[in-house]
Amino acid sequence: MKRIIYFIAAALLSVLVFSLTISCSRDSGPARETRFLLGTATTISVFDSSFPSQAISRAFDRVSEIQERMSINESEYDDTEILEVNRNAGLSPVAVSDDTALVVSEGIRWAELSSGAFDISIAPLVQLWGIGTPRERVPAPPEIEETLPLVNYRRVSVRDGNRIFLPEEGMGIDVGGIAKGYAVDEAARILREAGIQHALIDFGGDIFTIGTRVDGKPWRIGVQHPSSVRQDLLAVVEIVDLAIVSSGDYERYFEQNGIRYHHILDPATGMPSRSGLTSATVIGPDSIGADALSTAVFVMGLDDGMELIESLPGYEAIFATTNRRVYVSSGLQGRVELLASDHELADS
Ligand code: AMP
Ligand code: MG
Repeated sequence: MKRIIYFIAAALLSVLVFSLTISCSRDSGPARETRFLLGTATTISVFDSSFPSQAISRAFDRVSEIQERMSINESEYDDTEILEVNRNAGLSPVAVSDDTALVVSEGIRWAELSSGAFDISIAPLVQLWGIGTPRERVPAPPEIEETLPLVNYRRVSVRDGNRIFLPEEGMGIDVGGIAKGYAVDEAARILREAGIQHALIDFGGDIFTIGTRVDGKPWRIGVQHPSSVRQDLLAVVEIVDLAIVSSGDYERYFEQNGIRYHHILDPATGMPSRSGLTSATVIGPDSIGADALSTAVFVMGLDDGMELIESLPGYEAIFATTNRRVYVSSGLQGRVELLASDHELADS
């Protein structure tokens, strides 16, 4: 009798352990969770029929951790590592976590690769324009002139021991163009480490596709139409195990006297970039690279942006221009389906 009780107890225990680790079995549809993080709706959808039940929340916890380290949103955080670095500009180096050191170092690397079109030290200009905040306004030209010398990624140093130093008061780091990409990569790593093979991560349009769809086919990912009044799609592209990130003048902006002032600033002029692009979508093996690149090539424009993309193995791009043409990089030829009837595919 005792043996039977032991047997039943052991069986129950193993069922319990099994159901704790693999408890997300469902009959239909993905396991999907959305949280508001990184200033946007972030969604993780897992399509595997079973996987460790804690995987999605572990991924979100990691994203929260990254946000708490790098946000410069002072209405939400009194103190983050990046706020600390910026407050100590001209004073002293600040020791930061590996996460922050990595994102800033990657920011400097992408700044170099894009000849400064992407600039991790853009914070003083972002602050001056205040786009998307209650104090957004068009600064007077002398204010921009005064601010421009503070924006220069070459003056940012990341020293041994993860100490970041900005040499002049008023300088500041803004990881808004790259940190979401890093968060997506970290979420993808955690899901993969949990054995998940089919998932979609969508952090406000920064998307990562893990594996294929469950039926073995590629994911069909929509590229947003650059006109903000329209919710429909510009194009669709099929991808497997890749990141896809878009930057555009439609994301955050205000209008004054019929002119749109948007949130991607050209470090050369101090103005919202006017490169002739309305959106730049980058596809690549990592989201941090695709994120930095989408911001960079949006500033660089069609010719220089496409040249940069073509020089980087593994990265592809889809550009939409103000004259409603869509250009795709060589590795995407024939793989992009144009949906918007008001745009045409250009032969590149
Ligand atoms: P994204 O939406 O990824 O293109 O990033 C835009 C955000 O990056 C802005 O809201 C700013 O926080 C920041 N940013 C704006 N212009 C630049 C730039 N030229 N280089 C790097 N970051 C920028
Ligand atoms: Mg970006």
